[in-house]
Amino acid sequence: MRSYEQSQKYYDRALKLIPGGVNSPVRAFRSVGRSPLFIDHGEQSRIVDVDGNSYVDYVMSYGPLLFGHAPRSVIGAIERTAGRGTSFGASTLGELLFAEKIVDMVPSIQKVRLVNSGTEAVMSAVRAARGYTGRDKVLKFEGNYHGHSDGLLSNAGSGIATFDMPGSAGVPANLTRDTITVPYNNIDAVKLALDAHPGEFACILVEPVAANMGVVPPKPGFLAALRAESIKRGVLLIFDEVITGFRLSSSGAQGYFGIQADLTCLGKILGGGLPLAAYGGRADIMDSVAPMGPVYQAGTLSGNPLAVAAGIEVLNLIASQPDLYRQLDNKMSKLEELTAEAARSAGTPFTINRVGSIMTLFLTGKPVADYADAKSSNTELYSKYFRLLLDRGVYLAPSQFEAAFMSTAHTDDDIVLTANAVKEALAEAVAEG
Ligand SMILES: *Cc1c(COP(=O)(O)O)cnc(C)c1O
Repeated sequence: MRSYEQSQKYYDRALKLIPGGVNSPVRAFRSVGRSPLFIDHGEQSRIVDVDGNSYVDYVMSYGPLLFGHAPRSVIGAIERTAGRGTSFGASTLGELLFAEKIVDMVPSIQKVRLVNSGTEAVMSAVRAARGYTGRDKVLKFEGNYHGHSDGLLSNAGSGIATFDMPGSAGVPANLTRDTITVPYNNIDAVKLALDAHPGEFACILVEPVAANMGVVPPKPGFLAALRAESIKRGVLLIFDEVITGFRLSSSGAQGYFGIQADLTCLGKILGGGLPLAAYGGRADIMDSVAPMGPVYQAGTLSGNPLAVAAGIEVLNLIASQPDLYRQLDNKMSKLEELTAEAARSAGTPFTINRVGSIMTLFLTGKPVADYADAKSSNTELYSKYFRLLLDRGVYLAPSQFEAAFMSTAHTDDDIVLTANAVKEALAEAVAEG
């Protein structure tokens, strides 16, 4: 039997000092009826908690760790850079080299600005779109998550989905008045919304593969239809590729589906596990950002040398491995196959959505194409399944509405161990009823 005693002690102390004991609500295990773990360290595909329990990790810091925990070359780059000073509030060569790489790898990005989090990247991209077009309205989708900025939390995914919140308190109604939310994968709803407010929309903001209500791929033609509608109406198309960027291909979902956005938000993998994100796109739009243009956006630690060094190393690793995405796809495809087998033998209704190396097992018999479908999942069963998996050394996100992330560090043995654990945990969870 695993002991979780030390994690529990730390959690009890943290509860007195930190709201909910955690620095991001998705880290709380509240929705799965358990206390969270405190992590001591990570190595390749595994994390080890403060009680010494080891887990095959499919959270991977919610996406950033494409090469697993503590990849040698990334850590080396951070160490070399740290000794030379951690922040200057002035330009460094690293920022230039990094921008060149990003622009080189993501064809729709002509100019790029570095920020510290995905939240900031999307907030700033939306501001640039509004400044450039002189329009206020934003069209977004139910169950997509774009960070926690005021205007973008309504009907959002991730923690908002997990805790079943309609949005957030503390957001004045007049700040969300210009955010229009429609169901994902529903192009008719998009057209209706655009028709209802002609000439008022600055942008359509979308996760090209939704991954914050569990993984929900775009229906064939959906992204192309968004592109066509946005061009037809002079509305900018923003791809929030904070998860999909460098995850689905070296040029993100845009390369994967062959559709280019006007503005793109990147984060997670881009920073190699350090706080870094970016927004970029057409030069004429990006030139509306200060000091070139009237859209203000700034940051004391933006383009931080440590984060940039890690990011450059990650992009180098990606560029040097032409077979990378096929290998990741193969591994997740194998786990998908084994998970489906396990769910069938447990006799529970399920739907598996997978795009490349991200996947979600939804405990519902319905195909999952939007937020309402995702919400039909049996979250009580998921909680039991989650806890039983944890006891067997497999660490999934503590929520039905998140993706599992495969990394290059996961081995065939990890996948076999995971598949066996999934089989036992699902069977036992279903038997418990
Ligand atoms: C994680 C995420 C964000 C927010 O990024 P943070 O770094 O957590 O602020 C925005 N958009 C998407 C699609 C994300 O997955």
